[in-house]
Amino acid sequence: MKFLLTTSQGIEDLAKKEVERLFESKGIKVSIEEKPFGVEGRLIAEVEESFYTDEKGKKREFSPATFLNENSRLLHRVIVEIASLKFKGIESQEPEKALREIYDFVYSLPIENYVKITESFAVRSFRKGEHEFTSVDIAKTVGSAIYDRLSRYGKPKVNLDHPSVIFRAELIDDVFFLGIDTTGDSSLHKRPWRVYDHPAHLKASIANAMTELAEVDGGSVIDPMCGSGTILIELALRGYEGRIIGIEKYKKHLRGARMNALAAGVLDRIEFIQGDATKLTQYADSVDFAISNLPYGLKIGKKSLIPKLYMEFFSELSKVLEKRGVFLTTEKKAIEEAFEENGFKILHHRLVGHGGLRVHLYVIQ
Ligand code: SAM
Repeated sequence: MKFLLTTSQGIEDLAKKEVERLFESKGIKVSIEEKPFGVEGRLIAEVEESFYTDEKGKKREFSPATFLNENSRLLHRVIVEIASLKFKGIESQEPEKALREIYDFVYSLPIENYVKITESFAVRSFRKGEHEFTSVDIAKTVGSAIYDRLSRYGKPKVNLDHPSVIFRAELIDDVFFLGIDTTGDSSLHKRPWRVYDHPAHLKASIANAMTELAEVDGGSVIDPMCGSGTILIELALRGYEGRIIGIEKYKKHLRGARMNALAAGVLDRIEFIQGDATKLTQYADSVDFAISNLPYGLKIGKKSLIPKLYMEFFSELSKVLEKRGVFLTTEKKAIEEAFEENGFKILHHRLVGHGGLRVHLYVIQ
């Protein structure tokens, strides 16, 4: 069975490794293609069919989708792939013609293999790139094609609010994906523990990618500007046994981080401190790893204050950091100057898509 998996742009390699690791732990073969047709934030996984014996001794089919939805920390969606296709030239086509092509393609697919006529369905769509039509047009077009195709077998049921089956249609530049979204309407990166919504919170998938890149080894981990605690909470939820420390300047966010950690059931695993990261040595003599999504000065605070903040923070960090640091920011110049001035070496750099921005991720030593 083939699955279209979605994640943040720039962490596809880490998502691939995670999925391989998960299936390997079950002894199930999987082959994964990163960025199919060059589309960022997407993977196609082909998983072999496998079975298990339930508690009553009955042979049952193993569901890779349920398994990934329950266990992945880096994926956003798990979609049973129906079809993937490159619609050459769709971006420059007249909207009617482009939508007609999509309709004809979807109508030609064996949709009846994926939904029973008695089950209600809805289409959710996603569009990215330059097109002369909207994602709503795509949802309507794909919905009509599915409806017309299913009409051969009876009267199809549409339920836009609470469908039994969710079709997901994506058009990213000229690449079209259609599948059954097994994740549902809420992406996996929206964690159920998030009871406090920080205005600049990090996606949980990226938080996990940062932890993987830090290669934490059981030593102490600090997030010196922890906001609502995403990185630390996700780390604790991975069963990390080392010391986990969070510093946050503002009481409101720190209280929010505590509420989130409580909701996640890991409050006793994290030492939260209200403090100033530019005075880091007041709170810690030594830490093995620092992982943080730094302020960018966009949503909160002032951009002009960022270079000074970074310079003072990395000066303090250089006195206590033993192993590696992983940081995320849009402020390339300010952070690279602060690394250089304070003797940090960049081990790895990549761009990650976060909240519509391209954000720089650094691993330093
Ligand atoms: N990763 C966090 C989350 O998921 O909620 C968001 C972090 S947010 C981008 C940056 C945080 O740094 C903000 O909560 C801000 O209040 C905090 N901050 C700014 N300056 C600080 C300082 N000098 N010391 C400690 N925290 C600071």
